[in-house]
Amino acid sequence: STPNVRPLAAGNWKMNGSSEMTLSLLKGLTERLKSAGGSLAAEILVCPPFPYLAAAIALVDKDIAVGGQDCHPKASGAHTGDVAAAMLADIGCRYVILGHSERRTDHGESSAEVAAKAAAALVAKLTAIICVGETEAERDRGEALKIVEKQIVESLPPAGSASNLVIAYEPVWAIGTGRTPTSDDVAAVHGHIRKLLRTNLADGGQVRILYGGSVKPANAAELMAIPDVNGALVGGASLKAEDFWAIAEACR
Ligand code: PGA
Repeated sequence: STPNVRPLAAGNWKMNGSSEMTLSLLKGLTERLKSAGGSLAAEILVCPPFPYLAAAIALVDKDIAVGGQDCHPKASGAHTGDVAAAMLADIGCRYVILGHSERRTDHGESSAEVAAKAAAALVAKLTAIICVGETEAERDRGEALKIVEKQIVESLPPAGSASNLVIAYEPVWAIGTGRTPTSDDVAAVHGHIRKLLRTNLADGGQVRILYGGSVKPANAAELMAIPDVNGALVGGASLKAEDFWAIAEACR
């Protein structure tokens, strides 16, 4: 946590879901939110695959935000299969996840491309969640901080600020594996990211820095208590309302 920074509990559904699941999961979340009095300490965000975004937006009220999992750097044009940031904003998305390690790996996305996508997201008035993180080999070589620093410096768009930028630290080896770094290791990386943000942005002290990678109800409270951890980017555990809700409650 960081004083005066509202945490963010973000669910990254990846390529999972269906119309049925979108309905039941969002019903589960909105009912729990209502029982909790309408809001939590953390802001809640769900990021379903593109085909379910509009349905998701229709199902939630404004206390649950919806976001995309990628966007194209250009505003429109001959880019078959791609989606523009302005289209996400047009249907009511407020966020977009960018530079997830699965996109950096599966689609060869470079940090420069991530920066271009983030710039497009900001023009469309979306908040960009920029993902960074080292591989296991990089950590073993003692290069985690160096790699994360390079990815952040190269992925940051011009004109980013605490109001339109979120950083997600996701060690690649912790994603979907059930393994997490020690609290000390998370604290070291988040502290380093905070220092970088303070250097590069006027309000870098207020930018939310999420931890992602095997966040579960059982480890969420411990991870969220680490200084400069301002929420979670949750994959697998975001697909069950009960689990994602428990993690969202732990984001404080
Ligand atoms: P996980 O995925 O929670 O399933 O490890 C996190 C992510 O990739 O965003």
